[in-house]
Amino acid sequence: MKKNMWNPWHGCHKYSEGCLNCYMFAFDKERKIDSNKVHLTKDYNLPLKKDRKGEYQIKDGEQISTCLTSDFFIEEADKWREEIWNIIRQRKNVHFNLFTKRVDRITSCIPSDWDRGYENVTIVLTAENQRTADERLPIFLNIPIKHRAVTVSPMLEMIDISKYLKTKKIEEVYCSGENYSNARICDYEWVKALSEQCKQNNVRFVFFSTGSKFKKDGKLFYIPYNKSKEQAHKANLDYLN
Ligand code: SF4
Repeated sequence: MKKNMWNPWHGCHKYSEGCLNCYMFAFDKERKIDSNKVHLTKDYNLPLKKDRKGEYQIKDGEQISTCLTSDFFIEEADKWREEIWNIIRQRKNVHFNLFTKRVDRITSCIPSDWDRGYENVTIVLTAENQRTADERLPIFLNIPIKHRAVTVSPMLEMIDISKYLKTKKIEEVYCSGENYSNARICDYEWVKALSEQCKQNNVRFVFFSTGSKFKKDGKLFYIPYNKSKEQAHKANLDYLN
Protein backbone atom coordinates (compact mmCIF):
# COMPACT_ATOMS: atom_id res chain seq x y z
CA MET A 1 0.00 0.00 0.00
CA LYS A 2 1.42 3.40 -1.01
CA LYS A 3 2.30 5.66 1.92
CA ASN A 4 2.21 9.44 1.52
CA MET A 5 3.25 12.33 3.72
CA TRP A 6 1.13 15.36 4.49
CA ASN A 7 2.19 18.36 6.52
CA PRO A 8 -0.83 20.70 6.62
CA TRP A 9 1.13 22.93 9.01
CA HIS A 10 4.82 23.26 9.75
CA GLY A 11 6.63 24.32 12.92
CA CYS A 12 6.60 23.14 16.49
CA HIS A 13 8.03 23.68 19.98
CA LYS A 14 10.37 21.25 21.68
CA TYR A 15 8.24 19.32 24.12
CA SER A 16 10.12 16.39 25.67
CA GLU A 17 13.39 14.43 25.61
CA GLY A 18 12.79 13.02 22.13
CA CYS A 19 12.68 16.53 20.65
CA LEU A 20 16.27 17.39 21.58
CA ASN A 21 17.66 16.81 18.08
CA CYS A 22 14.44 17.26 16.10
CA TYR A 23 15.40 17.07 12.41
CA MET A 24 12.81 19.69 11.50
CA PHE A 25 14.64 22.28 13.64
CA ALA A 26 17.97 21.31 12.06
CA PHE A 27 16.66 21.57 8.48
CA ASP A 28 14.90 24.87 9.18
CA LYS A 29 18.06 26.33 10.70
CA GLU A 30 19.93 25.69 7.45
CA ARG A 31 17.18 27.49 5.55
CA LYS A 32 17.02 30.29 8.17
CA ILE A 33 13.41 29.47 9.02
CA ASP A 34 12.12 29.95 12.58
CA SER A 35 10.77 26.49 13.49
CA ASN A 36 8.85 27.87 16.46
CA LYS A 37 6.52 29.79 14.14
CA VAL A 38 3.75 27.37 13.22
CA HIS A 39 2.30 28.14 9.80
CA LEU A 40 -0.17 26.60 7.38
CA THR A 41 1.60 25.09 4.36
CA LYS A 42 0.67 25.26 0.69
CA ASP A 43 -0.13 21.55 0.99
CA TYR A 44 -2.81 22.02 3.66
CA ASN A 45 -5.41 20.55 1.25
CA LEU A 46 -3.18 17.86 -0.32
CA PRO A 47 -5.70 14.98 0.05
CA LEU A 48 -8.17 16.94 -2.10
CA LYS A 49 -5.69 17.91 -4.82
CA LYS A 50 -6.40 16.44 -8.25
CA ASP A 51 -4.18 15.66 -11.21
CA ARG A 52 -4.69 16.71 -14.84
CA LYS A 53 -7.14 13.87 -15.39
CA GLY A 54 -9.30 15.23 -12.56
CA GLU A 55 -8.40 12.32 -10.27
CA TYR A 56 -7.20 12.62 -6.72
CA GLN A 57 -3.39 12.65 -6.50
CA ILE A 58 -3.72 10.47 -3.40
CA LYS A 59 -5.73 7.44 -4.37
CA ASP A 60 -8.34 5.49 -2.44
CA GLY A 61 -6.68 2.74 -0.42
CA GLU A 62 -3.49 4.73 0.23
CA GLN A 63 -2.18 5.91 3.59
CA ILE A 64 -1.05 9.37 4.66
CA SER A 65 1.37 10.07 7.52
CA THR A 66 0.19 13.42 8.78
CA CYS A 67 2.17 16.06 10.67
CA LEU A 68 5.77 14.90 10.44
CA THR A 69 7.14 18.45 10.78
CA SER A 70 4.83 19.51 13.58
CA ASP A 71 2.30 17.92 15.94
CA PHE A 72 -1.29 17.32 14.85
CA PHE A 73 -2.63 18.66 18.15
CA ILE A 74 -0.35 21.68 18.61
CA GLU A 75 -2.16 24.75 20.00
CA GLU A 76 -1.44 27.13 17.11
CA ALA A 77 -3.25 24.80 14.69
CA ASP A 78 -6.55 24.93 16.61
CA LYS A 79 -7.84 27.51 14.14
CA TRP A 80 -7.11 25.28 11.12
CA ARG A 81 -7.90 21.82 12.46
CA GLU A 82 -11.65 21.86 11.78
CA GLU A 83 -10.92 22.33 8.07
CA ILE A 84 -8.46 19.45 8.22
CA TRP A 85 -11.05 17.17 9.89
CA ASN A 86 -13.38 18.17 7.09
CA ILE A 87 -10.82 17.05 4.49
CA ILE A 88 -10.31 13.76 6.36
CA ARG A 89 -14.08 13.17 6.35
CA GLN A 90 -14.18 13.71 2.57
CA ARG A 91 -11.49 11.04 1.93
CA LYS A 92 -13.07 8.09 3.75
CA ASN A 93 -11.13 5.55 1.67
CA VAL A 94 -7.75 7.01 2.52
CA HIS A 95 -6.20 6.14 5.89
CA PHE A 96 -4.71 8.99 7.91
CA ASN A 97 -2.02 8.40 10.56
CA LEU A 98 -1.98 11.51 12.77
CA PHE A 99 1.23 12.01 14.78
CA THR A 100 1.32 13.62 18.22
CA LYS A 101 3.10 13.81 21.54
CA ARG A 102 0.46 16.15 22.98
CA VAL A 103 -1.92 13.52 24.31
CA ASP A 104 -3.51 15.89 26.81
CA ARG A 105 -4.84 18.02 23.94
CA ILE A 106 -6.60 15.27 22.00
CA THR A 107 -9.94 15.34 23.82
CA SER A 108 -10.43 19.07 23.33
CA CYS A 109 -9.46 18.86 19.62
CA ILE A 110 -11.54 15.96 18.32
CA PRO A 111 -14.51 16.92 16.11
CA SER A 112 -18.13 16.87 17.29
CA ASP A 113 -19.03 13.78 15.19
CA TRP A 114 -16.00 11.76 16.37
CA ASP A 115 -18.01 9.43 18.66
CA ARG A 116 -15.63 6.42 19.14
CA GLY A 117 -13.28 7.70 16.42
CA TYR A 118 -13.14 7.79 12.62
CA GLU A 119 -12.64 4.48 10.82
CA ASN A 120 -10.04 6.07 8.52
CA VAL A 121 -7.90 7.62 11.28
CA THR A 122 -5.13 6.14 13.42
CA ILE A 123 -3.73 8.40 16.11
CA VAL A 124 -0.03 7.67 16.50
CA LEU A 125 1.34 8.63 19.88
CA THR A 126 5.08 9.14 20.33
CA ALA A 127 6.69 7.92 23.55
CA GLU A 128 10.46 7.95 23.45
CA ASN A 129 11.34 6.62 26.92
CA GLN A 130 9.72 5.04 29.98
CA ARG A 131 8.80 8.38 31.53
CA THR A 132 6.88 9.62 28.50
CA ALA A 133 5.27 6.20 27.98
CA ASP A 134 3.99 6.10 31.57
CA GLU A 135 2.79 9.68 31.40
CA ARG A 136 1.10 9.55 27.99
CA LEU A 137 -0.19 6.02 27.49
CA PRO A 138 -2.71 5.88 30.37
CA ILE A 139 -4.32 9.08 29.00
CA PHE A 140 -4.16 7.81 25.41
CA LEU A 141 -5.89 4.54 26.26
CA ASN A 142 -8.77 6.33 27.95
CA ILE A 143 -9.68 8.51 24.98
CA PRO A 144 -12.26 7.08 22.56
CA ILE A 145 -10.14 6.29 19.48
CA LYS A 146 -10.88 3.57 16.94
CA HIS A 147 -7.28 2.98 15.85
CA ARG A 148 -4.27 3.63 18.08
CA ALA A 149 -0.56 3.16 17.36
CA VAL A 150 2.52 4.01 19.37
CA THR A 151 5.87 5.07 17.99
CA VAL A 152 8.95 4.78 20.17
CA SER A 153 11.02 7.27 18.22
CA PRO A 154 13.75 8.07 18.80
CA MET A 155 14.13 5.14 21.16
CA LEU A 156 16.23 6.53 24.01
CA GLU A 157 16.34 3.65 26.47
CA MET A 158 14.96 0.21 27.30
CA ILE A 159 11.24 0.56 27.84
CA ASP A 160 8.49 -1.76 29.01
CA ILE A 161 4.99 -1.05 27.70
CA SER A 162 3.62 -4.57 28.25
CA LYS A 163 0.83 -3.47 30.59
CA TYR A 164 -0.46 -1.05 27.95
CA LEU A 165 -0.24 -3.63 25.17
CA LYS A 166 -2.25 -6.08 27.29
CA THR A 167 -5.29 -3.78 27.04
CA LYS A 168 -5.50 -4.72 23.31
CA LYS A 169 -6.21 -1.07 22.55
CA ILE A 170 -2.93 -0.53 20.65
CA GLU A 171 -2.90 -1.96 17.13
CA GLU A 172 0.67 -1.29 16.15
CA VAL A 173 4.04 -0.22 17.57
CA TYR A 174 6.86 1.36 15.53
CA CYS A 175 10.37 2.01 16.68
CA SER A 176 13.31 4.01 15.29
CA GLY A 177 16.70 5.25 16.34
CA GLU A 178 17.75 8.86 15.98
CA ASN A 179 19.38 10.17 12.83
CA TYR A 180 22.04 12.71 11.85
CA SER A 181 25.21 13.97 13.53
CA ASN A 182 24.01 14.55 17.11
CA ALA A 183 22.10 11.29 17.21
CA ARG A 184 21.83 9.42 20.48
CA ILE A 185 22.55 5.70 20.54
CA CYS A 186 19.85 3.12 19.90
CA ASP A 187 20.63 -0.33 21.30
CA TYR A 188 19.61 -3.56 19.56
CA GLU A 189 18.71 -5.08 22.97
CA TRP A 190 16.15 -2.34 23.65
CA VAL A 191 14.49 -2.88 20.28
CA LYS A 192 14.52 -6.65 20.73
CA ALA A 193 12.85 -6.33 24.14
CA LEU A 194 10.13 -4.10 22.71
CA SER A 195 9.63 -6.48 19.81
CA GLU A 196 9.20 -9.36 22.33
CA GLN A 197 6.61 -7.39 24.30
CA CYS A 198 4.62 -6.88 21.10
CA LYS A 199 4.94 -10.53 20.11
CA GLN A 200 3.75 -11.72 23.53
CA ASN A 201 0.70 -9.49 23.22
CA ASN A 202 0.14 -10.16 19.52
CA VAL A 203 0.61 -6.52 18.55
CA ARG A 204 2.18 -5.72 15.19
CA PHE A 205 5.73 -4.33 15.54
CA VAL A 206 7.87 -2.59 12.94
CA PHE A 207 11.50 -1.60 13.54
CA PHE A 208 11.53 1.23 11.08
CA SER A 209 15.07 2.61 11.24
CA THR A 210 18.26 1.93 13.24
CA GLY A 211 19.18 5.61 13.41
CA SER A 212 22.74 6.82 12.89
CA LYS A 213 24.30 5.21 15.97
CA PHE A 214 23.25 1.64 16.50
CA LYS A 215 24.74 -0.59 19.18
CA LYS A 216 24.76 -4.33 18.85
CA ASP A 217 26.74 -6.94 20.83
CA GLY A 218 28.57 -4.10 22.61
CA LYS A 219 29.78 -2.58 19.32
CA LEU A 220 28.70 0.83 18.05
CA PHE A 221 27.86 1.06 14.36
CA TYR A 222 27.58 4.34 12.45
CA ILE A 223 24.83 3.92 9.89
CA PRO A 224 24.34 6.40 7.03
CA TYR A 225 20.80 7.80 6.87
CA ASN A 226 20.07 6.10 3.54
CA LYS A 227 20.96 2.70 5.02
CA SER A 228 19.18 2.92 8.37
CA LYS A 229 15.87 1.49 7.12
CA GLU A 230 17.59 -1.37 5.36
CA GLN A 231 19.67 -2.17 8.47
CA ALA A 232 16.57 -2.11 10.67
CA HIS A 233 14.89 -4.56 8.31
CA LYS A 234 17.96 -6.82 8.43
CA ALA A 235 17.76 -6.91 12.25
CA ASN A 236 14.73 -9.13 11.68
CA LEU A 237 12.79 -7.86 14.69
CA ASP A 238 9.50 -7.02 13.00
CA TYR A 239 6.42 -8.89 14.18
CA LEU A 240 3.75 -8.76 11.50
CA ASN A 241 0.78 -10.50 13.08
S1 SF4 B 1 7.04 17.19 18.73
FE1 SF4 B 1 8.02 16.34 16.90
S2 SF4 B 1 8.11 18.06 15.45
FE2 SF4 B 1 7.71 18.91 17.50
S3 SF4 B 1 9.75 19.45 18.26
FE3 SF4 B 1 9.25 17.41 19.00
S4 SF4 B 1 10.17 16.02 17.51
FE4 SF4 B 1 10.05 18.04 16.56
